[in-house]
Amino acid sequence: MRSNSRKKLPEFPIPEILASQETTSALGDIVEHVDKNAINPNIYKGQFKDPATKEDRFLVRERLKGIYYNKCAYCEDIQNKPEVEHYRPKKKLSEDRNHPGYYWLCYEWTNLLPACHYCNTDKGKRNQFSIRGIRVSAPPRLPDGSWNQSANDASVSPLIDEEPYLLHPEIDQPDDGSYFKFHNTGEMEGIDPKERGEKTIEICDLNREDLLEKRREKIVLVIELIRGFLVLWSEGLLTVDGLARALDSIVFTKMVKLQGPDQPFSLLSIYIFEHFNEIIVPELPTPAQRTVVSAAFADFRVRFKRQQRYYRNLNLMLGSDD
Ligand SMILES: [Zn+2]
Repeated sequence: MRSNSRKKLPEFPIPEILASQETTSALGDIVEHVDKNAINPNIYKGQFKDPATKEDRFLVRERLKGIYYNKCAYCEDIQNKPEVEHYRPKKKLSEDRNHPGYYWLCYEWTNLLPACHYCNTDKGKRNQFSIRGIRVSAPPRLPDGSWNQSANDASVSPLIDEEPYLLHPEIDQPDDGSYFKFHNTGEMEGIDPKERGEKTIEICDLNREDLLEKRREKIVLVIELIRGFLVLWSEGLLTVDGLARALDSIVFTKMVKLQGPDQPFSLLSIYIFEHFNEIIVPELPTPAQRTVVSAAFADFRVRFKRQQRYYRNLNLMLGSDD
């Protein structure tokens, strides 16, 4: 799972269908009568018939795809037709049979995420939503008894006080390295003391076989690229400096690109970059090769970080907070 900042993407506002008067009114009826059968998938998927092509379109899904670069919000695999998943289950809860589900959040924009079929259903998340804090079991009310719709946002109280185990890519910051570590097998491991990383892996089954293979492929790609240049060096076709320059311009630059939010499994690529000596270096054949590659990467990393700081400062000066 990779951090996402939907709120910073003005090109992807709340889909009109979720904010329309008709939807608001229909939602009011659902809440008033606790009528979960009235929840309409055509609304939260944004389904409509395109008058030009006569084909079904799914406006909410299309917008979520744009925000998540065609990736599943949980496993980061590419999904051309992701499901519109409810972060908080809308109709029932695995952990508590008496809980009605978060039906009042069925059309809530911050509760909708794009997910692959496996992460959303199958052996993945389904209706799980375990928490550490205080469970919200009914729509929050204002002192006058009316429904407090401003409390529907997943990032505000009382929802945030539930302290969900499942990470939310737009509220939590998985990119900062505080929740997960990766092994060179592609396996993920939770590392935070509140066990949110570990629970997220469990809930979405993020160590399933196909994901392990795909993540391992990302690691192997970097190793194979490096090994190719090491062969040239061992055959005397590259000097140490030439090897470092080649690794810089081809391999390390590629490793930076793989961290882009549009890339599948980009959180792993960030981890590889930050833990190069742990993930990549041990897989190189000889001690001399490990030493020279490790030194070349350390040098590249210093320059890259300096460049990052420069651009960050430049953005600050220019008034952008990115
Ligand atoms: Zn997935």
